[in-house]
Amino acid sequence: MPRTAIYPGSFDPFTNGHVDILEAAFKLCEKVVVAVGVHPNKTPMFAVDDRLELIEAIACPLGEAAGVAVEVCTFDNLAVDLAREVGATILIRGLRDGGDFDYEMQMAGMNSTMAPGLQTVFLPASPDVRHITATLVRQIAAMGGDIAPFVPEAVLERLRRADD
Ligand code: ADP
Repeated sequence: MPRTAIYPGSFDPFTNGHVDILEAAFKLCEKVVVAVGVHPNKTPMFAVDDRLELIEAIACPLGEAAGVAVEVCTFDNLAVDLAREVGATILIRGLRDGGDFDYEMQMAGMNSTMAPGLQTVFLPASPDVRHITATLVRQIAAMGGDIAPFVPEAVLERLRRADD
């Protein structure tokens, strides 16, 4: 069984910050399952199917280059249940600042109670992307700003197509 990690998030959109964490995760395992959380009440920038397609286009070639298998899926249940379903023993979360840390510590503590065999691993954001948040990217895009410095080219292309 390959050492498998799940990397859960909303990924709306997948940003250069997410790419940074994913590439760091490649150093820890043989397989990464990028899991897009489905929240029916949120109005997204990209529909879930578009996010899946985009993440596959971005993450799979990066995984191939690193020799790590990448799978992309959705989930609408607890991350600990998803981890059990896919046989993951590592849960990856990125840390940008103290705000992330406080929230993530609570979640890691509760997840470890629910699933003692699942190890949360915090990966620090690289300095050049630690300011990027998907929420601000959505707001900038909605107001017609240029999000090119914050997201992979595939995300920009998809947005351009949506505007045409
Ligand atoms: P969530 O809504 O679950 O926070 P996100 O899509 O915003 O989902 O983020 C998924 C994961 O990626 C989280 O662990 C988050 O901390 C991490 N992340 C997001 N942006 C960055 C960034 N710029 N640098 C490092 N980690 C990040």
